[in-house]
Amino acid sequence: MSGMTDLGLPENILACLFDLDGVISRTAAVHAAAWKQAFDAFLRERDGADFRPFTDADYAEYVDGRPRVDGVRTFLASRGVGLPLGAPDDPPGTATVHGLARRKNELFLERIRSGGVEAYEGTLRYIEAARADGLRTAVVSASANCRDVLHALDAEHLFDARVDGVVAAERHLPGKPHPDTFLAAARDLGVPPGRAAVFEDALAGMDAGRAGRFGYVVGVDRVGRSAALYAHGADRVVTDLAELTGEPREPGER
Ligand SMILES: [Mg+2]
Repeated sequence: MSGMTDLGLPENILACLFDLDGVISRTAAVHAAAWKQAFDAFLRERDGADFRPFTDADYAEYVDGRPRVDGVRTFLASRGVGLPLGAPDDPPGTATVHGLARRKNELFLERIRSGGVEAYEGTLRYIEAARADGLRTAVVSASANCRDVLHALDAEHLFDARVDGVVAAERHLPGKPHPDTFLAAARDLGVPPGRAAVFEDALAGMDAGRAGRFGYVVGVDRVGRSAALYAHGADRVVTDLAELTGEPREPGER
């Protein structure tokens, strides 16, 4: 593609909109560890000598990618355990689906606040390079914990705007795959969508980028599904943002 900058973006791009989990932060392992702690405490108390711990395979099969409450239900069903749903304000650790979900979130927050989360360094360097080139930057995430994660990574200063789960709720914005949170971020930056680039690792994020008619959509492939990212509208797929600046592109590569 002609007219690309040193950042690997079309020359008319003025702003970059970054997803958090999987693009900026390596939060997947922290989520898995918090789930294990919450479930193991519950199961140990319930099953005593018959206790079987929550495993990585359990995480991949029953919890990863699902809404928090669905993850609790799906995993417990796999062990033949039924719990009452309870209410969203059940105290963390209550023997209900909501109580376990809240305990998991509490443990997740404790971990990220005590330094248990890492950044993708290639992304941080890319954001610094983009800002040095005069581009505006925003973080766009469904997470209500976005601020805590950015604070833990000491990365808050890298963004001119933040549209996260808290902001989306305040402004009544539907989440991805709807484009509304990305559109709000572009508006906050004063840049039309056609002159903003989206950086996402989720298929729903690709859909949002296409639906919002953004100028460029970069799919970040950490798990080997680049074909699916392209199918959902990526203009280019990379395994790390360092590829956008560092390596010469092959002839014909998008
Ligand atoms: Mg993500």
